[in-house]
Amino acid sequence: MSDPKTYPSAPVELPLRLDDLEPTPVEGCASCTELAKVRDWARAGNDRTTVTDCNVFLARHPEGHE
Ligand SMILES: [Zn+2]
Repeated sequence: MSDPKTYPSAPVELPLRLDDLEPTPVEGCASCTELAKVRDWARAGNDRTTVTDCNVFLARHPEGHE
């Protein structure tokens, strides 16, 4: 007897609004503080690539930087 189960495909929502999900610098970490500073400069200059890069490094704390 076959009873094929059909799984409802749950909609996977990817976090596209990165602006709302930015990692916060870890207090006391000089690298995070520096990255946050650079990120602010980049945002002021509309350099979204650098903003994203900084967010990636911030999110990798502490493996992504010393
Ligand atoms: Zn850090």
